[in-house]
Formats: sequence, structure tokens, C-alpha cells
Amino acid sequence: MNPEYSFFEAVCKSFDKAAKFTKFDEGILEQIKQCNSVLRIHFPVKIGDKVEVIKAYRVQHSNHKQPCKGGIRFSEMVNLDEVMALAALMTYKCAIVDVPFGGAKGGITIDPKKYTPYDLEKITRRYTSELIKKKFIGPGQDVPAPDYGTGEREMAWILDTYTAMHPGEIDSLACVTGKPVSQGGVRGRKEATGLGVFFGIREVCNNTDVMNRLGLPMGIEGKKIIVQGLGNVGYHAAKFFQENGALVVGLAEYEGSIYNENGLDVDAVFQHRKASGSILNFPGATNFNKNTDALEAPCDILIPAALENVINGDNASHIQAKIIGEAANGPLTPEADEILSNKGTLVVPDIYLNAGGVTVSYFEWVKNLSHMRYGRVEKRFMENHNTNLVSYIEEMTGKKVTEIQKNLLVHGPDEIDLVRSGLEDTMIKATNEILDCWKQNPEIKDMRTAAFLVAINKVGTSYAELGIFP
Ligand code: GLU
Repeated sequence: MNPEYSFFEAVCKSFDKAAKFTKFDEGILEQIKQCNSVLRIHFPVKIGDKVEVIKAYRVQHSNHKQPCKGGIRFSEMVNLDEVMALAALMTYKCAIVDVPFGGAKGGITIDPKKYTPYDLEKITRRYTSELIKKKFIGPGQDVPAPDYGTGEREMAWILDTYTAMHPGEIDSLACVTGKPVSQGGVRGRKEATGLGVFFGIREVCNNTDVMNRLGLPMGIEGKKIIVQGLGNVGYHAAKFFQENGALVVGLAEYEGSIYNENGLDVDAVFQHRKASGSILNFPGATNFNKNTDALEAPCDILIPAALENVINGDNASHIQAKIIGEAANGPLTPEADEILSNKGTLVVPDIYLNAGGVTVSYFEWVKNLSHMRYGRVEKRFMENHNTNLVSYIEEMTGKKVTEIQKNLLVHGPDEIDLVRSGLEDTMIKATNEILDCWKQNPEIKDMRTAAFLVAINKVGTSYAELGIFP
């Protein structure tokens, strides 16, 4: 981690900047800011014939809504400061997108690439049983999800450990989200964060005031995009931008980065990396030796989608993008934020832009509690209803719609349709709520502060209305 500051302090700094625009009691503001409960554990796991002591965390930042919610990351860089900061970001993120959870985050300080799947399973299951013992997991208490270094596989292990230790608990499927669909997951969760990033940026690009201020033409089409990180979030974000007419001109990974001003085919690059082991030497693209070089290359929109602090005091002034979309959590240091805001670059902040993951996690949790797939009850009804409607219109007008038009009009919603439209609506609403708040407070210099203000107003109101337990 970058030693120039603490990550949690940086989040608090952003909070304080926005809190000045509120009228909440100082004590309420302090209560919102602090982490409610911090769990730091060490546990032994037998790896081969040796015993390894694993360090892990779970931080519940807020319990103003229950359960609290947030991912679990596996990375060598995981430390208490980072988990606290990420848990706090979850509180604000959930508030902005009106997802009724408090914020939490967990992490295990391991490099998952150094372990076999068998060992990772042992570590994940042991971590889960520690969370159960300490009451840091449960459908109504604390609900983990994937994050950097974890995915569906780890969530299935967590679910299985939890259900094994809670026999007969009818809602146990809702103890974790981001599960495989066959294990109670919801369709559309995997690509949700990337799709949410796309919806958020698209809405920003559809805003006349913002685009005029930046001197950019409206809309996503033709915009040049650079994405740093081809993991789950970056890959899907890049794909959605490309599918909607943007040009993905640069892509960056650990080993280096590539650039082609005429656009790169995201799937072809992904396959090339899979086959050759590197993103470099992709046909038609220029190689950059350092992966961070791509951040400074010419583009309209830069999407950092990997880890924190990649844009900092050293490189911020070289960034050419007019819009930075924070798909990762905390990719900019406060120094970078300051430099970029003075330069007039629009930073679309992580605390709402990457909320697609937790939004769809919310849909998954509700699905698990209702014990029914979205669309199951209404799909056939809607299709029959729409078929009748089309037939009456055809009869009345004496004209026939084409087969393609008919399929489009008749189609009843599947789970994926409902999840995606719910996500789209959430991201559009959140973007406009933040932009409106910014407009109403012209002294606010950047979108991050406006987003924090929206979050503090919601969490603060919730605390104020609940009152303080004597
Ligand atoms: N890890 C994701 C995040 O940082 C998702 C959290 C969740 O789904 O609970 O937002």
C-alpha cells in the first residue's frame, strides 16, 4: 500500500469535506464515520505438511440498516486500514443507491495464486467458521460477497459452511451473495459491477451541463476509453462500452499495457492474453512497457478497474482523460483528486459508480429470502397479455408486425431482464441525484463531495430518526 497516507483517513477526509454542507449533530457525524465493529483474527491451516497462520479481517462499518454488506478480498496487501476504508465506502455506496444495508468488508491476507484450490477451500471454510463463531455472518446480520481475488467459487464454499452449521435455517441461502446461479445466485450478478459502471458513465455523458463544461460531445458513441485491469469488473465494463459504440483504445494489466487509437476488440485481447500469458504484442496495438503508462495515454474516459492508489500525486498531472470513472475502490489518492479537480477533470466517484455489484447482490438477497426466481410468476402472463395486444392492434390496423418486432413486443421478463433493468434504473437515479445535489451546492468542487453529501444525508437521517439507544 502507498505509505503516503492511510486509506481510511482518506475516506474520512472526503467525508469531512462533504459533512460541512450538512446540519447534523457533530456526534451523529462522528458515529457515521467510525467503524462499529472490527474483527481481526489469526487461525491455523495445514498447508501440505506445515501449519500456516492466516491473518484475516471483517469490519462492520455501520449497522444503521441490517444486515451489513460487503465483499471479501483475498490479497497479500489486505490490512486493517484497507478493510476499514472499504467497509466505510460500502456504507456510503449502499446509501446512495438506496440499498437497505449497512457497510462491511472482509479480507484475508493471502496471495490466492500461491495456493491450490484445495488449500483455498480450507482457508475459506475456516474463515467462515470464525465469522460464524463471532456472529459476523448471517442473512440478517452480515452478508459477504465477492471482491478482489474472490468469486462464485469462494461464495459457494462460504454458503456450504454456513448451511452445514445452521441446519434447518430456512433463509440460510441469503447468508452470502455472488453465488453460482445453481446455488441460489441471481442471473446478472457476475457482470453487474461492470454494467453499473457503464450505465453510470453513460448517464454522465447524457448530461448536457456536464458535457458542455468538459467540452465533450454528448453520448457514449465514439468516445475513446482506456480500461486498467481486465478482471471481472474491468473486462465487463470494457465490453459494455464497446458494445454500445465506444472505442476501447487502451487496456492495461500487471505485465504491461496496449494501445490502438482505432480501438481494440476486448474479447480478442482477452483470448490473446489467455493464450500467450500476456496482454502485450496484441496484433495492431502498440506496447507500453509499464502498465501505468496506459493511464497517461490520450482518451476521453479513463476507467481504473483494479486496486487503490494507482492515480496519485506522481502521475495525476499527466492524465489526459476528461472523465475518470472509478470502477475500482479508491483508485485515486486525495492528492490526485486535488490535482485533477483543479485541472477540470471530472472524477466519477467509486462510492456510487461501482455500486452495481452490491445493487444486484441486494436483488440476490431478496430472491433468496423470497425463495423464488425473478420473473417466475409473471413471465407467461405478460407474454399472453402482449400477444393478445399485438393481435388486436394488427386486427384493428389491418397491418402485420414483422416476426422480429413481434418477438420483441411479446417477450415476458426473464430474471436477467429484470435484474438489468433494476440496475439500470438504480444507476440512472443515483447519477442524477448526485448531479442535482452538486448543482444545488455550487460551492462543492467535485462530484465525490456531492456523492458523499448525498450519502451522509441519507445515513444521517436514518441515525437521527432512529434516535440513540440509551
Ligand atoms: N465487493 C463489491 C463492492 O465492493 C460487492 C459487495 C456486495 O455485493 O456486497 O461493492
